[in-house]
Amino acid sequence: MRLSKLASDIAESPTLALNEEARLLRERGEPVIHLGIGEPKNKTPINAILSSAARLTSGEVKYTPADGMLGLKKAVIRYTEENYDRLVGPENVIITNGAKQSLFNILYSILNPQDEVIVLAPYWVSYPEMVKMCSGKPIIVTPEDGTFTPRFEEIERAATSYTRAIIVNSPNNPSGVIYPPDLISKLVDWCERKGYYMICDDIYHKLTFDRKEAAPATRYAPKDIEDSHVIIVNGVAKIYGMTGFRVGWVVGPKALVRVMTNVIAQTTSGVSPISQTAAEGALNGLQSVVEALRLQIQNNRDVLLQELKSFNGARLIPPDGTFYALPDLRAFGSSSVELSKFLLSKALVVTVPGKEFGMEGHIRLSFSGTVKDVTEGMERIKWALDPTSPNEIYIGDRKIIRDWL
Ligand code: PMP
Repeated sequence: MRLSKLASDIAESPTLALNEEARLLRERGEPVIHLGIGEPKNKTPINAILSSAARLTSGEVKYTPADGMLGLKKAVIRYTEENYDRLVGPENVIITNGAKQSLFNILYSILNPQDEVIVLAPYWVSYPEMVKMCSGKPIIVTPEDGTFTPRFEEIERAATSYTRAIIVNSPNNPSGVIYPPDLISKLVDWCERKGYYMICDDIYHKLTFDRKEAAPATRYAPKDIEDSHVIIVNGVAKIYGMTGFRVGWVVGPKALVRVMTNVIAQTTSGVSPISQTAAEGALNGLQSVVEALRLQIQNNRDVLLQELKSFNGARLIPPDGTFYALPDLRAFGSSSVELSKFLLSKALVVTVPGKEFGMEGHIRLSFSGTVKDVTEGMERIKWALDPTSPNEIYIGDRKIIRDWL
């Protein structure tokens, strides 16, 4: 079959491929534990359900404006004022099909062929692929000191005359690190001076631990929104656990929102009103649901850290946010893909190879599930890799003896 080069070159999402393998194992009745996918286990917040249900029962489920419904936009405007200290207008907001479409459409709207976008490793898998899909070139900056936080000078060195943008994701998927305010402030200053777009993927910004805060870029951006190059991306998927509703948004200059609106109008059209009203309900409703989720995830993180203490050979920079940890498992082999495959086949635990995030030798563990998932998953991983751990384990109701170490 003849397919386009652009489409054929897109990497298969490794997370989805692993999920598929895990699904097949589960179908065969295997007790698989999922530490792969980043999706909170909570139920949809009640305010979201009520608001969406009211829309559905009204029977008014029609096309929506390409840039989003005014009710949701107003909720986003208030959210932006509360969390970013920025007063913006409806023309500065566009509602998208998840943060994914926000990011893709921003890149599609700002890049010309060969333009470069700086991506900081470890990075969310989709950034480099999205840049390539928009005919751009991802330029990866990997921290030289072995941490997950690049220094400003390293980033500055990566810029060329083709640089158009940088994507900043703090708290970071997959490492859970929060970039220091000093780095954010320097990046804002640099981007504004050079005219680079600073695309802030803030999808995890409320999921931080131990009272740590992810400094919003807007704090350091004194320019008027119409002149600023800081673009904020957000959504309901992570902080409300509303992954299936597919609602994200962008706050940026009107000129960008206008172009992005045309892209949506000619491709997907506006997001379903069922989803938009749900997101509006979540944003306007009780915010204690976010705090409840944050506390549950923080507890899972603590359990994971506790488990890792007795894991000889694993090294970890403790996550300060998100629901991911990226332990360094180079002591157990250099190929993270092999390691992830091994853990799925021997221990029935789904993980994601660090290679996909630009961090070979690491694997990403998601602690967005239940405490039981985290505890049992970690016990199994230790059993499979660490020779000092007990060599017998129960996986489901089967007692298995390790015979490979
Ligand atoms: N950005 C990051 C860093 C993510 O981890 C994800 C989801 N895994 C997204 C964006 C996409 O979010 P959404 O589900 O709203 O499209």
